[in-house]
Amino acid sequence: VEDLKELVKKFKAAVKAQTGKDFPACAYEQLWGAVCAVFNSWMNERAILYRKMEGIPDEWGTAVSVQAMVFGNMGETSATGVCFSRDAATGEDLFNGEYLINAQGEDVVAGIRTPQQITKVGSQRWAELAGVSEEERVSKYPSMEEAMPEIYKELDALQTKLENHYKDMQDMEFTVQEGKLWFLQTRNGKRTGAAMVKIAMDLLRQGMIDEKTALLRCEPNKLDELLHPIFDTKALKQAQTLTRGLPASPGAACGQIVFFADDAAEWHAAGKKIVMVRIETSPEDLAGMAVAEGILTARGGMTSHAAVVARGMGKCCVSGAGALNIDYKARTVEIDGVLLKEGDYISLNGSTGQVYNGKVETKAAELSGDFAELMNLADKYTQLQVRTNADTPHDAEVARNFGAVGIGLCRTEHMFFEGEKIKAMREMILAEDAEGRRKALSKILPYQQADFKGIFKAMAGFPVTVRLLDPPLHEFVPHDLKGQQEMADAMGVSLQYIQQRVESLCEHNPMLGHRGCRLGNTYPEITQMQTRAILGAALELKKEGVETHPEIMVPLTGILYEFKQQEDVIRGEAAKLFEEVGDSIDFKVGTMIEIPRAALTANRIASSAEFFSFGTNDLTQMTFGYSRDDIASFLPIYLEKKILKVDPFQVLDQNGVGQLVRMATEKGRAIRPDLKCGICGEHGGEPSSVKFCHKVGLNYVSCSPFRVPIARLAAAQAAIEDLN
Ligand code: PEP
Ligand code: MG
Repeated sequence: VEDLKELVKKFKAAVKAQTGKDFPACAYEQLWGAVCAVFNSWMNERAILYRKMEGIPDEWGTAVSVQAMVFGNMGETSATGVCFSRDAATGEDLFNGEYLINAQGEDVVAGIRTPQQITKVGSQRWAELAGVSEEERVSKYPSMEEAMPEIYKELDALQTKLENHYKDMQDMEFTVQEGKLWFLQTRNGKRTGAAMVKIAMDLLRQGMIDEKTALLRCEPNKLDELLHPIFDTKALKQAQTLTRGLPASPGAACGQIVFFADDAAEWHAAGKKIVMVRIETSPEDLAGMAVAEGILTARGGMTSHAAVVARGMGKCCVSGAGALNIDYKARTVEIDGVLLKEGDYISLNGSTGQVYNGKVETKAAELSGDFAELMNLADKYTQLQVRTNADTPHDAEVARNFGAVGIGLCRTEHMFFEGEKIKAMREMILAEDAEGRRKALSKILPYQQADFKGIFKAMAGFPVTVRLLDPPLHEFVPHDLKGQQEMADAMGVSLQYIQQRVESLCEHNPMLGHRGCRLGNTYPEITQMQTRAILGAALELKKEGVETHPEIMVPLTGILYEFKQQEDVIRGEAAKLFEEVGDSIDFKVGTMIEIPRAALTANRIASSAEFFSFGTNDLTQMTFGYSRDDIASFLPIYLEKKILKVDPFQVLDQNGVGQLVRMATEKGRAIRPDLKCGICGEHGGEPSSVKFCHKVGLNYVSCSPFRVPIARLAAAQAAIEDLN
């Protein structure tokens, strides 16, 4: 009491010093002060960041509920806690949570005291992880089920009732005041991607929700968490375990240790992978957590700030690892005799709570049965097909395993980035005339054909759209003296010649320069070689009994005749090849629609093109007039000033660019009703853009392999929302 009296004096003095006024003695004035403080807190930086992370629109206001207070700190018959009707990390159908006797809610979530488990099962699991004996557990850290059996029964019955009512996993807060249970709040609980899928499928199997609801309950972008790597089991066997904490948020993380949020941001910006190590986290650490691979804390339970925030972000987190001895000043952490410094590598397993010394190799995620079931369910409702953007057999295989039904974009220029291939490519670009280019192209042909064969094989039975070369040429030529000399030697020409060619290839606006079909139209021998490589690979596979469906795509068309001339070259070369080989194969010739003029004249282009693929990266660039490579210089300010709501290179601008997509699809199909239309820009894997593509009636979206499941779910949701 004496301490409290002293504290009150100090607080009153602090209020006077800060505000210049006495602390109000009137209860109403105090209440209004508190209400205003809540509203004001909604406006501060931390709250703005929180809203951004939670996707809460700025237009939403906040409300303040004024409730009578109950106290969990009124002695041994009082307690407070947080509980979930299912496991928020794994989705397991198991009531769980944490509580503290003689405490207030803040004590549980702040991570200052490590709370005890509510259920006996949970408590036993915790003891096993923490290395606490059963005897010690029962005497020092009993579960609520054991310590307050009557209250526990009431709590358990209520949590079941609430979940049955809301038909979703509940996150509840309660207080016990002198033996009486009070519920403070309940809400649908935040969960990891894995828990989201498991809970939706379990609720469906338990008959609580129907198929469509199960699909709509899952947030497409959250599937991403399930697709992240886990530790390689072999590497794990050799890894040195340092300690074990609580498995607060699943996944594997490996990175360099940092202790402060500012450093985290700085190191991340420098391209480093980092793990944030803290005694406990507070909201000031949010920015650091957002860029970290994982978070490790010495204190705090499963409902601590670090754990809840990490789960929301889908980040790996190990909390309450009591063996951590952190010295912020020295920037070191000592764990059972092992001293680690800032910058040292550490690895975390957020699913088991294990902490490892050094780097532990990771491997691709293993997808659970529930995930596959959800994906099958999605296919039942979806109308859009999902293809992938892939330039290697490996990427094609990954995407196929994720359910891609074809390749929507194979960027052939990406096949030239390595070793001998880049040399041959450089030779082709640096050649003076068609003769020199042909010579270089004959070296490239076998590489290309072998690459296409691998890709077609990985996608056997499905269509593969191969795009003809679309590189800004200057990207491929050597800009350093050593590289230039190397090319001079290889081509038997002078260094000066190479330097002159490199200079003459330099463009002021390379993205609007000599690329796309402008290249194929000025150097048709490139188109001839690529046609030969694509169809030659398909013919070889035909002999091996592998089914292929090649689609040859002309990039950056803006004028019908640009396309027509390329089409003539392609069909002419194909006829020659088929005659030489004495065999043939079906193939399609279509175009990218990525220049506004192509969209505006889509009916003319569709008179020749057999399919359209919307290149919304370039279409966005040219519709907005924003350079896709330079937008970073003004985008942050545009977003801050709300001139733009989102980055149009990530989320399709439905009002502008989207209208071009819609119009071109309609115009094209007016001439050619069976015109196959798809999208292969980055937007093909972004949920709101996928939904737009469904509305416009495209046949497919194509996205990077790891976004395929996200696009599949978004496509199904679009179809269901249509039905509803
Ligand atoms: C596009 O422009 O959307 C596209 C897919 O092509 P790239 O990104 O290769 O220009
Ligand atoms: Mg493009």
